[in-house]
Amino acid sequence: MKQSELFTKTQKFAPKDEVSRNAQLLIRAGYVYKEMAGVYSLLPLGLRVLEKISAIIKEEMDKIGGQQMKNSVLQNKVNWEKTNRWDDELVDNWFKTKLKSGSDLGLAFTHEEAMTNLMKTFISSHRDLPAYPYDIRTMFRNEKRAKSGLMRGREFYWKALYSFSKNEEEHYKFYEQAQKAYQNIFRRVGLGDLTYLTFASGGTFSKYSHEFQTLSEAGEDIIYIDQEKNLAVNREVFNDEVLAELGIKNKNKLKEAKAIEVGNIFTLGTKFSEPLDLKFKDKNGKEHFVFMGSYGIGISRLLGTIVEVFADDKGIVWPAEVSPFQVHLIDIDAGDEAEKIYQDLRKEGVEVFWDDRPDKKPGEKFADADLLGFPWRLVVSSRSLQAGGVELKKRTNKEGQIVKTEELKNILKNQ
Ligand code: ATP
Ligand code: MG
Repeated sequence: MKQSELFTKTQKFAPKDEVSRNAQLLIRAGYVYKEMAGVYSLLPLGLRVLEKISAIIKEEMDKIGGQQMKNSVLQNKVNWEKTNRWDDELVDNWFKTKLKSGSDLGLAFTHEEAMTNLMKTFISSHRDLPAYPYDIRTMFRNEKRAKSGLMRGREFYWKALYSFSKNEEEHYKFYEQAQKAYQNIFRRVGLGDLTYLTFASGGTFSKYSHEFQTLSEAGEDIIYIDQEKNLAVNREVFNDEVLAELGIKNKNKLKEAKAIEVGNIFTLGTKFSEPLDLKFKDKNGKEHFVFMGSYGIGISRLLGTIVEVFADDKGIVWPAEVSPFQVHLIDIDAGDEAEKIYQDLRKEGVEVFWDDRPDKKPGEKFADADLLGFPWRLVVSSRSLQAGGVELKKRTNKEGQIVKTEELKNILKNQ
């Protein structure tokens, strides 16, 4: 894509009321537009990142048997009354509205009730199980605080998968696969080394749930990390009994850290299938409630997290797998040569973003490239051509190097 054709532009300053670093950078670089506190529109570059993250999630969910669908946002209160989650006294983050007729509607803040009810149409026999529907979509939550930018939105993007199993054993088999799939996802988006499988509070059917917590000073959670075991415990369940139960012997060795909950997996058991009456008949015709689990990932939170943990004082730094483009080609009076490189790289399938703006000074172009944060910067100028080619620099390196134009493709394609 040519930078001159992109309708968004970078800005020197973020809105004064924006306190979070991820949103400040994303707004300045033109990835998102702030509609109001906790509400952001995704601009073309932001959408490219979101779609790359979503594609990775989709791949990993499909691999373990997930089937994508889309739930409705508008929710009928009847189902939520059955599980006692309609009342504002009990769930404080609903957005609610009314039909013209006066009946109440809610905007989904989660989908356990809706999915359990929907699956009643399709599950009646043991032959119908297991089933793993999932959804990638916008969710609404009337969050009290919205000071973490993309990491806590009132409108946000997530992936939610719900598992429907015959029994606990079948459930935990899948639960473990989901855990591995989550680890793959966080590794693939570049957060593997910073993200810990974390024991958190469970519910009626399991002592613990598992969160995936990414280390960051911008995090709202406190976790205790056992480096040897490569796991962590959330402060909300941190006590001697829990430590003993996880075979953690030396309490003083644990590292306390701030972290961001990028995802979680939860054993629901029959918490929803009982009140909503989702049952199946086993081989002998005996009825049982379906055993359920839920598996969430905050996709827009993940986007904000990646910005938080990798950005430097110059701007955003995207891991290659989620970067909107791989190469920022900067043309400084290079004439036809820049166009030729642009076309050649595109032909090779390299995602190139070409700063072809004739009226911008080199300094402005470099500052934009740093702010936008693509993995490679490629400068073509009369000087680089005289030196034998083009200057290639990694976003994370101080210095670039001159490479021959013919070698460019191979270097970039092998990365
Ligand atoms: P938190 O503890 O951060 O409030 P939660 O435990 O309520 O989140 P879930 O309902 O389990 O979250 O949602 C699944 C995932 O969705 C979370 O792990 C998180 O990554 C993401 N998420 C939840 N709330 C938000 C939000 N307001 N904005 C962005 N992402 C969110
Ligand atoms: Mg939580």
